[in-house]
Amino acid sequence: MILITQDLMASDEGVARAAAILRAGGLVAMPTETVYGLAGDARNGTAVAQIFAAKARPTFNPLIAHVTGLEMAETLAVFDDRARAVAAALWPGALTLVLPLRSDAGLSPLVTAGLSTVAIRCPAHPVAQALLRAFGGPLAAPSANPSGRVSPTRADHVRAGLTGRIDAVLDGGPCTVGVESTILGLDGAPTLLRPGGVPLEALEAMLGPICMGGDAHKPNAPGQLASHYAPEAGVRLAVTAPQADEVWVGFGPGCKGAALSLSPGGDLIEAAAALFQTLRDADALAGPGGRIAFAPVPESGLGRAINDRLRRAAAPRN
Ligand code: AMP
Ligand code: MG
Repeated sequence: MILITQDLMASDEGVARAAAILRAGGLVAMPTETVYGLAGDARNGTAVAQIFAAKARPTFNPLIAHVTGLEMAETLAVFDDRARAVAAALWPGALTLVLPLRSDAGLSPLVTAGLSTVAIRCPAHPVAQALLRAFGGPLAAPSANPSGRVSPTRADHVRAGLTGRIDAVLDGGPCTVGVESTILGLDGAPTLLRPGGVPLEALEAMLGPICMGGDAHKPNAPGQLASHYAPEAGVRLAVTAPQADEVWVGFGPGCKGAALSLSPGGDLIEAAAALFQTLRDADALAGPGGRIAFAPVPESGLGRAINDRLRRAAAPRN
């Protein structure tokens, strides 16, 4: 689908217009102090699926939820004293915290890629802050560039990459930090998941030694967080004729008798929005030792990311 991408100035009117687009489920590129983010309503699965579609991301990496401050952040994640102290000292700023997801967070599971942790940041950029306040809820926002390209630090860069694929660009001038946020895991021992705009020394001064852990760029690489994505049940893919004991998950109108469907109408955005919840529902229906069979999903557009995730779910377990 080709969209008309509006250019919005960072005036009160431009921010109000951007917030209205976000409330309607649209996508707005917003300036932050690190890089421009491609923002969508983090509670709206369809909007979050559109983010992946606009970027043509081949995988569902978890996204950062952007918030107005600690109060909104605490509605999404469980903060202990340590997390609260770090947030109080370094927010707003170029620091993302990975914390346990609250069960009542209300985020689309696409934001967390089905994980039980959530990445949260409170940006310092006044335009990002104004937009978050006008919108009044969490915004999911990866960098506003097509997948595999360099992160954008000016509105022009966003337009060059995403015109026709998003609803608006909110122009807040060049980004001052220009590198991505530092990602700190606080779901356990403090762990540096990605170096970025806040130096490691600033974190060590508060928290003591920090583990150099993980690779936040590939949290879903095989062998890393793969277990978070795997249902208990066995999974078969591209199944057009399921066996009697399989929970069949359909896609498209041809799957008569399927117990569940990623999208009865065969819509890839709808299927992406439903993916993680459907994996859980199918697992619950299949029960211990049960089996799930997924109908074929086309290997195009968001179908690539859906199939990537389903292949991980079907991969042999260690
Ligand atoms: P970007 O939005 O492009 O800056 O990328 C967000 C980064 O945050 C990616 O490297 C993600 O893998 C990482 N991330 C987001 N959520 C989590 C999480 N729950 N656990 C670990 N890393 C995360
Ligand atoms: Mg990026």
